[in-house]
Amino acid sequence: MSIHKVEGIILRNQPFRSSSLIVTFFTREAGKIRGVAKGVHRERENRQAGFEIFTLAEFIFYEKKRSDLHLISDATILESNDVLRVRLESIAYGSYFCELVDELTEVQDPHPRIFDFLQTALKYLPVISPERLTLIFTVKLLGEMGWIPYTDGCVFCDAKPLERGYFSIKQGALLCDGCRSKDQGAPAISPACLELIRMYSRQEMASCLERASSIHAVNELQRLLTQFLNYRLGKILRSRRFLESVRPSLRNT
Ligand SMILES: [Zn+2]
Repeated sequence: MSIHKVEGIILRNQPFRSSSLIVTFFTREAGKIRGVAKGVHRERENRQAGFEIFTLAEFIFYEKKRSDLHLISDATILESNDVLRVRLESIAYGSYFCELVDELTEVQDPHPRIFDFLQTALKYLPVISPERLTLIFTVKLLGEMGWIPYTDGCVFCDAKPLERGYFSIKQGALLCDGCRSKDQGAPAISPACLELIRMYSRQEMASCLERASSIHAVNELQRLLTQFLNYRLGKILRSRRFLESVRPSLRNT
């Protein structure tokens, strides 16, 4: 077994046997890592040890060669992100960010940009409209993973600039009028929404966050991406269901 020291953000933890946890965290250098942490099954021990969701910590783990479930020997909390655990809104959206990263990535497949996207999203979550932040984060993540790799023009004939068009839920791609026959079920996408998805794909997260956007375009893009994710994942994420169930009460707070 070789020993490693890495920084990572906790995506989730789950009880394992009588006194351990299986911890999943995302690192800049090595992507997603899963490991067993022993003797931390009680909530207070878990918190003190740095295994709570959203925590940024430095982990020491022993890599097992024949399994992707390693042995975590120590964690030092670098940023507890306690502020995210105070409000239901931050818990709901933050959990969605973490589950999305967990679902879209494979273990030990490095994506340094995803680490940065997640860290940025968690940093801005308490201070910015969570809907817009979620959209920006989702577009960046889908682009990085190659799920929506191209937004410049029509994916088939490369017609551009595409002023209006269609978004193929099946392909995660934009189509022009002439290529609509490739996916008859593709819903139309408005010019404002097209502009938004392009901007989010091309620009850094921080500059996307600085730009104001029309609420109609934000809602439209949110609908399209939710349909796309549900189709590609073949399910609705647990954290998404939770988010939808608490959203009406969040609007009143
Ligand atoms: Zn076309």
